Amino acid sequence: MSEPIKPPEHNVTNHDYSRREHFTYAGPPITDFHAHVTMTSPDDKTAGPAGGWAEKGSSDSAAMMMDVGTEFGVGLTVSMCPAQDIAPLRARLGDRLLFNAMINKKADESVETAYRTLDEFLEAGVKIIKLWSAPRGRERGLVVDAPWRIESLRRAWKAGVKIAMVHVGDPDVWWTHTYQDTAKFGTKDSQYAPFLRMMDMFPEFIWIGAHMGGDPEHPDHLEEMLNRYPNYHIDTSATKWQVREVSPRAEAIRALITRYPTRFLFGSDLVTRHGLTREHYVSRYWCQRTLWESVWNGPSPISDPDFTPTGESGQTPLLRGVGLPTDVLRLVYSENARKLLGI
Ligand SMILES: [Zn+2]
Repeated sequence: MSEPIKPPEHNVTNHDYSRREHFTYAGPPITDFHAHVTMTSPDDKTAGPAGGWAEKGSSDSAAMMMDVGTEFGVGLTVSMCPAQDIAPLRARLGDRLLFNAMINKKADESVETAYRTLDEFLEAGVKIIKLWSAPRGRERGLVVDAPWRIESLRRAWKAGVKIAMVHVGDPDVWWTHTYQDTAKFGTKDSQYAPFLRMMDMFPEFIWIGAHMGGDPEHPDHLEEMLNRYPNYHIDTSATKWQVREVSPRAEAIRALITRYPTRFLFGSDLVTRHGLTREHYVSRYWCQRTLWESVWNGPSPISDPDFTPTGESGQTPLLRGVGLPTDVLRLVYSENARKLLGI
């Protein structure tokens, strides 16, 4: 007997992604403010940091993702990729891409390594600095307000960079497994203290909290931060996470975004990797647009390992569209990003 064929992760419900009649947005081109468009290679890993192949890699996956994006109305994508990938991606994709500089270093690397990385990015003309500070990065010293990151921000500002994106937090559910050891990883709440310190230290920066500020589970917390920090913005990226956690509180999230319509930015968190099919990219854009602009209601087509099926549920979480009003959508999808980027 042969094994039953497992459906692909990007379509476990045998969904027809060509069904788009529920899309309501017809405004100016969308900006995907959070993506990882990189050079790819057959040696790509399936997870973790992507890209870095420079001219030796291929730009075909990047071009395929951009073409799928265009089909979904995306006109501009802001990518996080290693600095050496920027030139070959620009050569192929031109002004459809802008770049966000990830300022990281390994625990045993000197601070000079981080500053050299920053210089490479600045020479390549980045517009944004990214401070990845998930709890799993703590051991490697990747906290938001590490001294070398404070210095990097100072240098970036001098060079004309005015936007800083931060990944802080992770899904609540990860504290039931990956982050159970809170002595090591901290509680979810405690993740925010270093981030708030940074915003207090650099109020002149435009701040962006990646992945619904890392806390779609608590719209009241997001509101508190939006209230306290007038330069704080939030991107909608990480599709599985947002589908799973925004859907059950769609009304609260709609009310929140409608109260702060200039503070949210569309993002996918798509990552290019060798061998990913066209439909993988389609699935994320389809779910993101369905979630924000429609009142579509049904099982998410994407496999979600963080979802625990219950007796009544299907194998995937319910995707329940937030149905943002047209004028709010226009800001979130397009105008907020263009304003921040000075376009
Ligand atoms: Zn990301």
